[in-house]
Formats: sequence, C-alpha cells, structure tokens
Amino acid sequence: MSLKFFPDKTLRQICEPIKKIDAEIHELSRKMLVLMKINNGIGLAAPQVGITKRLFVCEIENKPLILINPHIIQTSGESKMIEGCLSLPERNVNIKRSHKLLVKGFDSQGKEMQYEMAGLWARVIQHEMDHLDGILICDYDKNMQKKIKKNMQDVMDL
Ligand SMILES: [Zn+2]
Repeated sequence: MSLKFFPDKTLRQICEPIKKIDAEIHELSRKMLVLMKINNGIGLAAPQVGITKRLFVCEIENKPLILINPHIIQTSGESKMIEGCLSLPERNVNIKRSHKLLVKGFDSQGKEMQYEMAGLWARVIQHEMDHLDGILICDYDKNMQKKIKKNMQDVMDL
C-alpha cells in the first residue's frame, strides 16, 4: 500500500459504498492507520491509497477512528483553518468549514456508530468526506481560481 499524490486520477473518483464489512476491510483500515501515522497525518481516506471505497481513518491525540460509509447528518457553526493533505504535500489552504457536526457510519467491525464532533475532529471528518467525493483542498483555493481566471482573461484579451 502506498500514498497517491495529486494529480493521480484515483483522487478525483467518487468512491463506492462498501457492501460488506469483512476481515479484508478491517485489515485495510488497520494498514491505513499505520501508513497515515508513518507520514505524520491525522487523517487518510481510501482513495489516497488507490482504493475507491467509502472509508477513512483518522487519529487525534492517540484516539483512532475508522468510519465506513459515513454520512454527515447535521452541521452547525463555522470556522476557518489552514489545512494540509498527504496527497498534496506542497499545498496549504485556508478553508471555511462547519465547526460542529453529527456523523453516522460503521466501524471496521460493522457496527453502526454516531459521533458528535467539534473543532479539529469535525474538520478532519469534513476533509476526509471530501476525499470520498473526489474533492481536494486545492478546490477551495480562491487565489488559485483567480489566477486561472486571470489567465483566461489574458487569453481572451489577445
Ligand atoms: Zn487529504
């Protein structure tokens, strides 16, 4: 298992729900947690290791969390924070996200779980959920979008 880097096509796929949470999925999430920690990350989604399935892992303050087929049920508040991503090592983007959320999903044993999260936890979950839909931090980079627009303008000016 190895990390995929932008612009790898896998990172832009809409991931498939996991139909059966079996030993293979359990092993996959365990390996993803190890790879994430080796790379000093606090979150890692399956497409970042080339697997287009709806699963992500994260760990904050030695508390690991594995979520399979996650759904955000409720959000509230807003906060801004500069984020990085293991798939875009050279990039940091200031992103506005919900401060609190309620998320539902399954753990690697197939048990249905629900968590109320705030702050950094809520942020990591939103970042990883984005990965499952092929969304990356660079998509939030307004400066980059402006730059592209300006370049287009330049072309039109010709
Ligand atoms: Zn990421």
